[in-house]
Amino acid sequence: MKEDAHEQAVRLISAEHVEGLTPEQRRWLDAHLSACPGCSAKADALGRALSSLRLVSVQLDPAVLAATRRLVRSRAAEIGEQRNRLRIAWMAPMLSFVWMAFTGPLMWRGFEWLGGSLGWADGVWQSSFVVGWFLPATAAALALSLMRGERLHRLEN
Ligand SMILES: [Zn+2]
Repeated sequence: MKEDAHEQAVRLISAEHVEGLTPEQRRWLDAHLSACPGCSAKADALGRALSSLRLVSVQLDPAVLAATRRLVRSRAAEIGEQRNRLRIAWMAPMLSFVWMAFTGPLMWRGFEWLGGSLGWADGVWQSSFVVGWFLPATAAALALSLMRGERLHRLEN
C-alpha cells in the first residue's frame, strides 16, 4: 500500500518532534503544509500540544526526562510497525499527545502536592508522575490500535 501525500505529511509531522527530519523531508513537508490547510492545522495542533508539554518538562530532572524520551522513542517504534498494518494508526499518538497535554500540568501539580504531603524526595514523585501520566495514554493508544488491528484482521479473513 502506497502512502498518499497527506499520510506522509502526518507521519513527518510526528517524526519531526521525535527523531527530526532530513533537509529534504523538511522541504517537502514545508511545501505540503503551505498548500494543505488540513495537514497544516494538524501540525499546529501538535505544536501547541508539545509547547504545553515543554512548560512542564522544563522542571523535570534529567533522569526522568531521559526515561520519558526512551518511552516516546519505543512508542514511536511501535507506531512505525503499526503504520504498516493500519492507515489510521496515526490517530493513536495524536490522541495520546492531546490527552497528555490536557492532563499533564494538572497531574504534575497533583503529584507535587502528594509528594510534598508524604515527604517523598523530588525524584520519587517525579518518577511516579511520569509513570502515572504516560502509561495510561500509551495503554489507551495501544488498546485502540489493537482493537482496530483485530477488526482489520477479521475483515481480511
Ligand atoms: Zn495534506
